[in-house]
Amino acid sequence: MSYVDRVLEATKAKNANEPEFLQTVEEVLNSLRPIVDNDPKYEEHAILERMVEPERVHEFRVPWVDDNGKVHINRGYRVHFNSAIGPYKGGLRFAPNVNLSIVKFLGFEQTFKNSLTGLPIGGGKGGSDFDPNGKSDAEVMRFCQSFMTELYRYIGIDVDCPAGDIGVGGREIGYLYGQYKRITGKYEAGALSGKGLSYGGSVGRPEATGYGAVYYADEYFKSIGQTLEGKTVGVSGFGNVAWGVCKKLAAFGAKAVTLSGPDGYIYDKDGIITDEKINYLLEMRASGRNLVKDYADKFGCEFVAGEKPWGRVKADIYMPCAMQNDIRIEDAKRIVEEGTAKDLIEVANMPTTNEAMEYLQKQGIVMQASKAVNAGGVACSSLEMSQNAEHLSWTLEEVDDKIQHIMRGIFHNCKDAAEKYGCPGNYVAGANLAGFQKVADAMLAQGIV
Ligand code: GLU
Repeated sequence: MSYVDRVLEATKAKNANEPEFLQTVEEVLNSLRPIVDNDPKYEEHAILERMVEPERVHEFRVPWVDDNGKVHINRGYRVHFNSAIGPYKGGLRFAPNVNLSIVKFLGFEQTFKNSLTGLPIGGGKGGSDFDPNGKSDAEVMRFCQSFMTELYRYIGIDVDCPAGDIGVGGREIGYLYGQYKRITGKYEAGALSGKGLSYGGSVGRPEATGYGAVYYADEYFKSIGQTLEGKTVGVSGFGNVAWGVCKKLAAFGAKAVTLSGPDGYIYDKDGIITDEKINYLLEMRASGRNLVKDYADKFGCEFVAGEKPWGRVKADIYMPCAMQNDIRIEDAKRIVEEGTAKDLIEVANMPTTNEAMEYLQKQGIVMQASKAVNAGGVACSSLEMSQNAEHLSWTLEEVDDKIQHIMRGIFHNCKDAAEKYGCPGNYVAGANLAGFQKVADAMLAQGIV
């Protein structure tokens, strides 16, 4: 049995009740074979065994009181996955389905993603099964304060720097930062990123994930002699990431035609391209209703209840921007059958099941990996930490230039790694191989820790 197979078997046995975590470990480790199976040093130093084991996991009680005086208990998490190349860095996700498996999958992915940015940030992730939708501002504030009253022990500029993710945006980061500052008695701005502009945030951070994804896509199309201009894109989700993607696609002359939510999907064949339509996504998210149907009602387009857009519309490219496992095997089959789409550019973390990904690749759909495509968000967070460290604020041009440079560079690193290790055109494997190499080199240099 090869080294990769042995580690996979042991990881499955040890984490049998963590399906999302095992899914990403399987996907990543399988693609690392060309590096680790050909050089005994990785096994001698137990690099893979150490990589699949978080350095530590924090799990804690988050008690809070709602507006009617009722007490609620949620579960909080912060996983310190890998600090080989920098302090732990990664978002906090507040959503009802958050559990240890999901936080570990996100933390594992984050380690490779952060490595791909070329910036000195390790991998971490956290969150809670708290659902901010439908809660009042005061309830969200009390929850965030309670969450931080425990979390503050585990974070800090040189330790772990959390940020947002699904359910955690500017409002939540504000409340979290306020409580952190109050408890620690220090203005340690770099300990949290995604802050507001008035207290240490970076310009361009809300847009960075979506814009970064489109810069990556633009670089990929350039490399195959095409452009984004004129392309039709099927998008899922309608949060911050989908918003940035629609906006930047429009700037490149492409058009997003779908959005999705827990209630179904909308199809706007004219494109989500005007400022009015794009900015309405922000209103929908802020309303806390969590319904994409509101878009169809407002702009008079098609709404399909209970379904996802995959293969149900005509699109040249799909860019899933919602959650993990959005595209399953049945969706993949529908995409292939519909026949228009040639590219799947993952934006949300792990939006495609392993089975669907394998099927799509076999059928000739070119896939781009989320850990590469969505790295613009965390890259901008790292730039925010740099600005905080030098007590300066950069201009939008400076930040945007750097994000573009980072994203275009990530695409080439994925492409080059795929070529170097014998799988040209497999950008997903390329992302894993390139992300792995830097972390593994640092771990080898630092000894058995
Ligand atoms: N949650 C985002 C991600 O998945 C951003 C993390 C950050 O800015 O630290 O990468």
